[in-house]
Amino acid sequence: MRPGIGDPARLNARAMLSGAFAPPAAAGPLSREDIPRMSTPLPTIDQVASGPNVAIPAVPPTPVRRRPVPLSARKTGLYDLNLSDLTDRVTAMGQPAYRARQIYTGAYRQLADSYDAMTDLPKALKPRLEAELPIQLLQPVQTYEADHGETIKALFQTDDGQFIETVLMLYNDRATVCVSCQVGCAVGCAFCATGIGGLMRNLTTGEMVEQVIWSVRMARERGRQLTNLVMMGMGEPLQNYRATMAFIGIVNDAAGLQFGARRITISTSGILPRIRALADEPYQVNLAVSLHAPNDELRDRLVPHNTRYPVADLMATCREYTEKTGRRISFEYALMAGINDGDAIATELAQLLRRSGVLCHVNIIPFNKVEILDFERPTPAQIDRFAAVLTGHGIATTVRYSRGLDIKAACGQLRAEHEGIVPVNSSSTATRDTLPASASIDLDGEAVPGETDVVG
Ligand code: SF4
Repeated sequence: MRPGIGDPARLNARAMLSGAFAPPAAAGPLSREDIPRMSTPLPTIDQVASGPNVAIPAVPPTPVRRRPVPLSARKTGLYDLNLSDLTDRVTAMGQPAYRARQIYTGAYRQLADSYDAMTDLPKALKPRLEAELPIQLLQPVQTYEADHGETIKALFQTDDGQFIETVLMLYNDRATVCVSCQVGCAVGCAFCATGIGGLMRNLTTGEMVEQVIWSVRMARERGRQLTNLVMMGMGEPLQNYRATMAFIGIVNDAAGLQFGARRITISTSGILPRIRALADEPYQVNLAVSLHAPNDELRDRLVPHNTRYPVADLMATCREYTEKTGRRISFEYALMAGINDGDAIATELAQLLRRSGVLCHVNIIPFNKVEILDFERPTPAQIDRFAAVLTGHGIATTVRYSRGLDIKAACGQLRAEHEGIVPVNSSSTATRDTLPASASIDLDGEAVPGETDVVG
C-alpha cells in the first residue's frame, strides 16, 4: 500500500469541495438519510490546498431526480441495432431481409426521423416498426449556441427522464461531436460537474448513436459534414464498454454512417483492464487518457480511482497499448490554477512521460470554470509556461482551449444546472475501501450505480 492510501484522515479534492467527507467509520453503502441537507458555502481552493483540516460544511438539499429505468427493462430502439440484428428483427416480423437494409439506409443515409419518411417501406408496416423499434428516444430540451454559432450544445431528455449533453464544434477544417456515454459518472473526478451526482445509468448504444445523428443533421443544416467524434462528454466510456463498442460498430458501418474509426477518439480516466481490452478490438480508434497529474499523491485527489489504478500501472498499461497497436496515446491534462500547474509538476510530468516510453502527445486543457466547483483556470502566462516546460523536454504538446465558455461548456454543467445537482455526499473518497461503493466495477469492467447514485 502506498503512503496515505487507506488513511481515513485523507480527503480527496472532490470530497473536500463538496464538504461531504466524513471519516469512513461505517463500511457499506450510504443511505439517503446520510446525505447532509443543510446549506453552507463550499470551501475555497485555499482550504482545499490546506488539506484535511478544512471545515466540513454540509451541502444544500439533495435534488429530486428521476429514477432511471434499468437497461434490461428498456425498449430497444432502431439505433440500438446493427444491420445484422435489424435483419433478424425484421425477418422475425415476417418481412423479407432486404427490408432491413431499406430501413438502415433510411435511418443512416437519408437521416429519416420517422418511418413515415422512409418512402420505400410498406405503409402497413410503419406503425408496427414505430411501436416495436422506435426511432427517436432522445428529446431535445434546449439547444445553445456560442462562438458565433460554431459551437452548438444540446441538452437531451431520455425516455426515462434523464438528462444528457452533446456538443457539436465546427472548426475551419473539421466538425467534431462530443458524445456522452452515461447519465452522470461513477468516477467522480474532483473537477468535473458530471461526476458530482454519481452515476445514474449507462446510456444505451442507441442513445449514443442518436447523439451522432443529431450532430450530423446539425452540421448538414450549416452546410458542413461531421468529420470527428470524441467520447469526451458525460461518463466513462470504458465503464460502459459493451454499448460503446456496439456504438462504434454502428457508426463505423459502411452500410450506414461510414464514420472512419481513425476519426473516433475514446477518452478514459484510466480503467486499465479495459485499455488492454481496447487494444484487442478491431477498430483503429484513437485513445485519450485523462492524466491530470504526474504522481499518485495528486492524482488520487483529482481522479479517485487512481487509488485502484495508480500512475505507474497506468503508464505501464499505456505502453502495452501503444506497443500492441502502434497508435499514439493522447494524454489529456486539465490545467487548474494552484492545483497541477506548477513548474515542478510540469517537469515531473515530462520526466514521467519520457521514462514511460509511451508513444504520446499531451493535450493541455486550461480548466473550464464550473460555477458549482471551486477550481480556477491558470493565467495565460502560466499555461504557456507549463506547455513550454513540456516541449522543452521533448514532449509533443498542444494547448487546447475549450469551446463554448458562455454556454457552460464543461461536460455535465448544463445537466447539473437543469437538475439542480449540487455536490452531494459522495462515497468516492479516495481510498481502496470506499471506492467500490460508488464506482463498483463488475467482472466485465462495467460501471454499476451504487446506492448513493440514485436519489428521488
Ligand atoms: S472527467 Fe470524465 S471520468 Fe471524470 S467524472 Fe467527469 S465524466 Fe467521469
